[in-house]
Amino acid sequence: MYHSVTHTTDDPYRITVSPPRFERQLRWLRGHGLKGVSVAELLRARAAGTARGLVGLTFDDGYADFTAEALALLRRYDCTATVFVLPGLLGGANDWDPLGPRRPLLDERGIQRAATWGMEVASHGLRHLDLTHVDEDTLHREVRDSRQLLRDLTGHDVAGFCYPYGAVDLRAVAAVRAAGYRYACAIDPGPLTGRYALPRVHVGERDNGWRLHLKRSLHRWRREEPADLPEGS
Ligand SMILES: [Zn+2]
Repeated sequence: MYHSVTHTTDDPYRITVSPPRFERQLRWLRGHGLKGVSVAELLRARAAGTARGLVGLTFDDGYADFTAEALALLRRYDCTATVFVLPGLLGGANDWDPLGPRRPLLDERGIQRAATWGMEVASHGLRHLDLTHVDEDTLHREVRDSRQLLRDLTGHDVAGFCYPYGAVDLRAVAAVRAAGYRYACAIDPGPLTGRYALPRVHVGERDNGWRLHLKRSLHRWRREEPADLPEGS
């Protein structure tokens, strides 16, 4: 789970990886026989039994630096990724983070560019709201309308959703399924872990090869689905 790829020293939420560090992480992946792919591709491969060596790469919030910095590096290392964007804040900024710093978000052209270069464009809702704290109408608008807007913008079906703040409950899962998404990403594992609440591992500026090894092996048991969940949860 990445957010922003840029040079900065002002990073109170630790959501930023510098381009040289990101490149070293991609080189580490490829050097270990691994390949970064979008979540949709990872799930397709898992269903076909061909997911060995694939690692899902995600970028939350859809910062403009995704196309300015990350995209060229992903392509150089023959990787793809999923970028979770906010079609209600096109060309806006991350105003939901009270501490800042303000960072520009992708606009229409940026989102189309990401899709054109083979990245999976998926939804992070319209305006980065905590879906566990909104009324029913807002919940459905955030989930359903963002999917429609992205479909119109990219011309592609939109398979994935990512809960803002990783905040997920049964009601949010139900809304995401009803809107037609095929998977959704959360952050931490929990009772809802499964296709509609996939846990992810944060990767940051301090993650060198040794820490990536550790995170990869820990994630293997961290992502296990609880055995007593109903089908498709
Ligand atoms: Zn976010």
